[in-house]
Amino acid sequence: MADDLLNSFTSGPDDQGRFGIYGGRFVSETLMPLILDLEAEYERAKTDPSFWAQMDDLWTHYVGRPSPLYFAERMTQHLGGAKIYMKRDELNHTGAHKINNVLGQILLAIRMGKTRIIAETGAGQHGVATATVCARFGLKCIVYMGAHDVERQSPNVFRMRLLGAEVIPVTSGRGTLKDAMNDALRDWVTNVRDTFYCIGTVAGPHPYPAMVRDFQSIIGKEVREQIMPREGRFPDTIIAAIGGGSNAMGLFYPFLNDKDVRIIGVEAGGKGVDDRMEHCASLSGGRAGVLHGNRTYLLQDDDGQILEGHSISAGLDYPGIGPEHAWLKDIGRAEYVSITDDEALAAFQLCCALEGIIPALEPSHALAHVIKIAPDLPADHLIVMNMCGRGDKDIFTVAKHLGQDLKT
Ligand SMILES: *Cc1c(COP(=O)(O)O)cnc(C)c1O
Repeated sequence: MADDLLNSFTSGPDDQGRFGIYGGRFVSETLMPLILDLEAEYERAKTDPSFWAQMDDLWTHYVGRPSPLYFAERMTQHLGGAKIYMKRDELNHTGAHKINNVLGQILLAIRMGKTRIIAETGAGQHGVATATVCARFGLKCIVYMGAHDVERQSPNVFRMRLLGAEVIPVTSGRGTLKDAMNDALRDWVTNVRDTFYCIGTVAGPHPYPAMVRDFQSIIGKEVREQIMPREGRFPDTIIAAIGGGSNAMGLFYPFLNDKDVRIIGVEAGGKGVDDRMEHCASLSGGRAGVLHGNRTYLLQDDDGQILEGHSISAGLDYPGIGPEHAWLKDIGRAEYVSITDDEALAAFQLCCALEGIIPALEPSHALAHVIKIAPDLPADHLIVMNMCGRGDKDIFTVAKHLGQDLKT
C-alpha cells in the first residue's frame, strides 16, 4: 500500500481484503483459485484505459450517464431548511443503480473468456440488470432466486425470462436472498471453467466488496463534478439508503477523504429497531459474524442463526451489510441511522406530490431521513441524497399499504 494512502479512508481493503476486522475471504479451498483469478483480472482491468473507455461508452450510450444532479426546489421550500439535491440514478436504463456495477462485472467476465453468467437476486432488481446486460452481450444468464421471492416478485421474474435468463427457484432454507446467494456460490464451485458469478452489492468475498464499490463510485464522482458549477463547493451532507450498501458506497467513497462532508447511511428500520427483529438494520440492530465469504454486521439470533428481518422495501432486506460500511461505522467516518416503513411511505408520497418523481421505496428511506434533518439546518447547508431507483416496481406495495387494491 502506498505510504501516502496510509492515513486515508480510501486505502482499504488490505491485500487480504480486510477493512479493519471486516471483509476478508471466508471461502472453501475449491473457490480460492476462482477468486484469485478474478482478483488478478480486476487488478489488470483497473489500470487498463481500454477497459474504462468501454465502460464509459456503455455508461453514456446504453445506461444514459451521467445522471442529473437535480435541485429539489419544492421539497427544499416545503421543509424550510437545508438545500436539497437529488442524484437521479433512477433515470438509468433498468431504473436503478444496479446496472453501473453489472456492466463492469460483465465486461470483466468477457475479458476472462467466461460464457456463462450466474447471479443471485432477492427482489429481482439485480437479476433484471444482469439479464439485461447478458442479453446485450449474448451471454447465457442463470439467476438464483429464493422460491418465496419468485412468488412475491413475479413481474421481475417475467422480465428476466423475457430477457432470456433462466430463473432457478431456490427452495433450501427459507427460500429467500440468503439461500439464493448460497446456491449461486455452490454453482460457481461446480462450474469453474466457464462461469462468472456476478454479485449485486458490496458483499461477498474479496475482491467483490471493493470491486462493486469501484464500479458504483461513478455516482459520487459525478456528484463532485456536477455540484461545482452549481454551488462552487462540495455538499455538506450526503445521504443514501442501504440494503447491502452498494449505492451508498458509490456515493460515499469519492467523498471519504473530504472530512467536512458528513456521511449518513440509512438502513431499513421496518416496524422499529428492537428485539422483535422486524427490521433490516444490520448495523443499528445486528452483531458481527461471517456470511457469504466475509465478516460483517449481521442480523442473527443468540445462536448465530441468520434472521430474515423485515422491510416494506424488498430491495433492502439483505441480512448483512457490506464490510466497508461496518468499518466506516466503527471508525466513525460515517453515521448510520434507520427509518421505519411508515416514515419511508410518507416520504414516498411527499416526493410524488412535490417533485413529480415516483421514487423507489429504497431511496424513500434516504429521503425520509432528509425530511427529518433538513428543517433544522441552515439554508446554505447542501444535502445530496441518492435517488437510486424509480418507484414503478413498488406501486402495488404502496397501494396495499394505502388500503387500495390494484387489479393486475
Ligand atoms: C437493490 C437496491 C437497493 C439496495 O442495494 P444496495 O446495494 O444497498 O444499493 C437500493 N435501492 C434500489 C433501487 C435497489 O434496486
